[in-house]
Amino acid sequence: MGVKMSSLVVSSCVLFLVLLLPLQVAQASANIVEEPELAYLLIEPVICRSDSGTNAAMSRLHRDRVEAVYAQADVELVWLAERYFDCSAVRDGSVDVDSIVIEGIERGLWGSGVPRISLILVNAINGVPGPRGLGMQSGSICFVAAAEGASGSENRDQEAFALAHEIGHCLGLIHTVDDPEVADDISCIMGAGEFSERIGENSLQPSQITTVRNSPFLLFKSMNVSSTNRLDSYIN
Ligand SMILES: [Zn+2]
Repeated sequence: MGVKMSSLVVSSCVLFLVLLLPLQVAQASANIVEEPELAYLLIEPVICRSDSGTNAAMSRLHRDRVEAVYAQADVELVWLAERYFDCSAVRDGSVDVDSIVIEGIERGLWGSGVPRISLILVNAINGVPGPRGLGMQSGSICFVAAAEGASGSENRDQEAFALAHEIGHCLGLIHTVDDPEVADDISCIMGAGEFSERIGENSLQPSQITTVRNSPFLLFKSMNVSSTNRLDSYIN
């Protein structure tokens, strides 16, 4: 959106020229403010399977709906190739998430390389079956367990919400009840309400967009990504 020339009443050519030049400058600077640089967020799904590499946990990613949430912050999600974590106990949530994080580092699944969010797909988290999620606050790992055999629209909404919500924790977002910048009765990605509304058009509020844009996980074209290596910091 820029300044609308059509709303101006110009009484002479001289006046028009005098007005036109400053307006062009104003329009250019307005565009810079209103169109932030597109950022990229790498998401690497890690699908947990049995010890022998069979019976994978559900891997519905609801990409379009999760992408629509973060597009509100001019962030484009880049889905990396899926990786696999073959361990029945991990898949079934019978070991705690701290142990899973350590085991994943030892297996080279995460903990180094390009900044990215590792999205671990399991059947249960800390012994509790899905649909549910758990994300590190400003960390690089989140878990999502889908609803078993989910097919109804409410389950799909909840799954999509869980994915976007846990990624939000990784990006630094906190629940609206703990966030003085956002009313806690707003249906946003970190708030209350119907799941379909929590991942709807206004699922990121202005202050949440600012938080997301400040996340160190965002990548920009101007960055030399290949030289950026760092370890994960795990935060409960
Ligand atoms: Zn949460």
